[in-house]
Amino acid sequence: PEISLVELLDESIKQYPDHTAITFYSQTFTYKQLQKFIRNVAASFHHLGVNKGDRIAIMLPNCPQYPISYFAAQMCGATVVQVNPMYKSAELLHVLNDTSSEVLIAYNQTLPLIESIKDQTELRTIIDVSFESDCKFNEFLKDRGLPVPNVSINPKEDIAVLQYTGGTTGRSKGAMLTHYNLVANTLQSAATSKVKTNLGEERVLTISPLFHVYGMTSAMNLTFHIGGNLILVPRFEVEEVVKIIEHTKPTTFPGVPTMFIALLNFYKEKQFDMSFLKTCISGSAPLPVEAINQFNELSGTSVAEGYGLSEASPVTHRNPIAGVQKNGSIGIPIPNTDAKIVDSANGEQPLPVGEVGELVVKGPQIMKGYWGLPEETNRVLRDGWLYTGDLAKMDKDGFFYIVGRKKELIIASGYNVYPIEVEDAIYKHPNVLEVAVIGIPDEYRGETIKAFVVLKEGDQLTEEELIKFCREQLAPYKVPRVVEFVDELPKTAVGKILKRALKEHSNA
Ligand code: ATP
Repeated sequence: PEISLVELLDESIKQYPDHTAITFYSQTFTYKQLQKFIRNVAASFHHLGVNKGDRIAIMLPNCPQYPISYFAAQMCGATVVQVNPMYKSAELLHVLNDTSSEVLIAYNQTLPLIESIKDQTELRTIIDVSFESDCKFNEFLKDRGLPVPNVSINPKEDIAVLQYTGGTTGRSKGAMLTHYNLVANTLQSAATSKVKTNLGEERVLTISPLFHVYGMTSAMNLTFHIGGNLILVPRFEVEEVVKIIEHTKPTTFPGVPTMFIALLNFYKEKQFDMSFLKTCISGSAPLPVEAINQFNELSGTSVAEGYGLSEASPVTHRNPIAGVQKNGSIGIPIPNTDAKIVDSANGEQPLPVGEVGELVVKGPQIMKGYWGLPEETNRVLRDGWLYTGDLAKMDKDGFFYIVGRKKELIIASGYNVYPIEVEDAIYKHPNVLEVAVIGIPDEYRGETIKAFVVLKEGDQLTEEELIKFCREQLAPYKVPRVVEFVDELPKTAVGKILKRALKEHSNA
């Protein structure tokens, strides 16, 4: 339906006024309380002079102030600019200046950084958030008798969120997501988990950051839509997360692969009970099949993989929550979504079942375009289809498989090598905790394959042993020629392995 995000939330506030909306450590808020805070903060924003179409940047870790700021900004008709609180000055300057943001909500620990760059931006107001001491945001939460804004939204036109892409493959771009896009994706996601949803009763473990598109939609917006309890965790520290899980017994967990792997490792690959988790989803990066089989076997729950990208609000595919799930597959397109595989050279030729090409998708969740980048927009949006930049194939049952990013494809001696295939082979080794495979320049082969490997604590393995292990499973041109053992892999804020950094490291 054509409604705004605020209207979608209002439906739940009406239906579940006294249910818990948010849990943050020992704090809890009901839907009614959440509404009061949002209205107070919206009135304060309005008083500051925030108008329809203005950009408000939110730079917070997961905390209750996040959803409050998000919906308050939207009550003013403003566009939320999602800012990662771990950004360094260059990234922060890029996002703030790209969007000409004048108002910024920021966690107090990031204030020194913000102060140091403020003069190079258009910022005029910084509203600090603190968990321990008094802060400006606390004043905004109070009822100051200010009028609450009443702005009319055109859901199909108005941009609710500027979602900067993860920057995994290059400079991050602002995906313009309208109210319509985000409401649609929330409803589409709700439809896929409907069979296992207990309306008004779900407890959703939210470690995935809300400033990233996955946490925003699949955790926050979806939870509020189903009247659930958003359990906010500001960072992934495995011991702390385990305590929170034991204490809150969540029913739903939208996580990322590295979280499941870390949990598995924490329990030292012995049995542990997470059977209370009815719905475990993994998205945002490839899920190693071996690790996840082990996770499912030992935890009593089962992880369903999904797929999406910032440009699609983000979800486009998911394994059915009840029914056939295929390991290693991102599942089938969610309701109201079309998907096909086209040739990766010019993207015009649809490819038959089983052949690898570029994944293109279409649906109400697809962005309006990139902020300020019409050429980039035209490159990825063609006839309503979004060109994802991901290489994939479809099987005869209509399940899709991501084989890698177009940009990360390795061409060794003229052969296409998909890093994920090599990574899956290496993950089978019992001593391996994490692996990332990249192509490095090679005089004879054009590119050759290099694996970065993190071993499990206390385990040993040599380069020769691992190469031999790969030879037993892979065609010779897919076998890594170089293996580097490292203590950890560089990752983005959502835990995606930063292959760009590994390439730079190898070229240095
Ligand atoms: P940038 O576009 O700036 O390089 P990014 O692609 O990481 O950054 P996001 O929108 O956060 O930006 O991530 C979307 C990408 O994540 C997808 O295009 C895909 O490559 C990857 N991805 C998401 N889910 C999965 C999955 N289940 N399996 C494999 N890859 C996935």
